[in-house]
Amino acid sequence: MPAALSQSFREQLSALNRNQDRYVADLVSLILTTAQQSGASDVHLVPDRDGIHMDWRIDGVLQSIAHIPDVATNVIARLKVLSQLLTYRTDVPQEGRIIEPLDAGRKSDVSGDQAALPQIEMRVSTFPTLHGEKAVVRLFVGSGQYRRLSDLGMPTSTDSQWRQLLTTTHGVLLISGPAGSGKTTTLYASLREIMHESPERRSIVTLEDPIEAEVPGITQSQVNVTAGFDYARGLRSLLRQDPEVIMVGEIRDRETAETSFQASLSGNLVLTSFHAGSSSEAISRVSDLGVEPYLLRSGLLGILSQRLLRRLCACASPGQDPDDALGLRVERFQLPVGCEQCNGTGYSGRLLLAELLDPRQGDIGRGILSRADADEIEQHATAAGMRTLFTQACEAVDTGDTSSAEVRRLFPSASGYVDPS
Ligand SMILES: [Zn+2]
Repeated sequence: MPAALSQSFREQLSALNRNQDRYVADLVSLILTTAQQSGASDVHLVPDRDGIHMDWRIDGVLQSIAHIPDVATNVIARLKVLSQLLTYRTDVPQEGRIIEPLDAGRKSDVSGDQAALPQIEMRVSTFPTLHGEKAVVRLFVGSGQYRRLSDLGMPTSTDSQWRQLLTTTHGVLLISGPAGSGKTTTLYASLREIMHESPERRSIVTLEDPIEAEVPGITQSQVNVTAGFDYARGLRSLLRQDPEVIMVGEIRDRETAETSFQASLSGNLVLTSFHAGSSSEAISRVSDLGVEPYLLRSGLLGILSQRLLRRLCACASPGQDPDDALGLRVERFQLPVGCEQCNGTGYSGRLLLAELLDPRQGDIGRGILSRADADEIEQHATAAGMRTLFTQACEAVDTGDTSSAEVRRLFPSASGYVDPS
């Protein structure tokens, strides 16, 4: 439990005057500004019988922050006003963005230095539940707009290999990982790298759903599925716009996958993300979507697969009991403890793991053509020198950067397990 964080929030909460007209507006401002200052990526507001329960996602993990009595309906209504949703519709899910300055109407008698706050974009979604509407606010951290590859902390060899691939003029570059693994941040950083490092100007266009950050110098467009403007159709039209580099937010279906690979063969560099647990799994799943092996083999330049592991705080202590290694083959390991610095969680910040699969290495290409399964592709890749995400995760335990429990949270059943008997 993030004791310090929730206590500090509750103290600020109790400083607000419940009898003032501005109470709900101030409360919502307080929630959003403190969540942002704490580095939360999402705020969950869940109504229950007697109020609203609030959780924040910090470093990828949901943390319980506070229970606020009575005001559930008003808080959600205020969020809906800020994000220009229909306040009178409480029976259907809605989505919107907060575009107004967050602190409009706030006066300096409320705690918090709003002048120092950077403008950040927030996406609000509401969902009807048993006790009223639940709202989730996603905070896009403004500083992310300026992130370059060098800011991501990718392993050095992967970083230089990936930069090399970004200079290529045609082919498909896939970024894979589960939700919340930082794929979008890497996609944007890669686009900025191409834009700033290319010796000559390249025409860079994107198709996104939604556009999460604006990148100056790049033509970005948002698909609109209800209007029939989906990824596949958008991509076909974009190809008539003389592009050189195309970023497709995510490949979700066969048509988008095929069109992306065909576009890469006709002289475009296509960057996209794909939901898969590892690089080798991404290959077999793209193949399962129906992309022909020869198209995959000739179009694919590389797959970057990534994960974000929480870093142990300095308060960690050395583990003694071998059972606490949770079956990981490691020489030594540290256990999370918890202190004021890390809000009692034992972790602070995150560590990026990234594996890069180059299909031109070793027997990988042959494996793709013969529709080998993910395990076999991975064997070819590791034989060719790829260090898997799980190997990197175990190394991070050995070096004391993360804990066995954190590795098991992300890789519950990965191999390397030593049978205790
Ligand atoms: Zn700590």
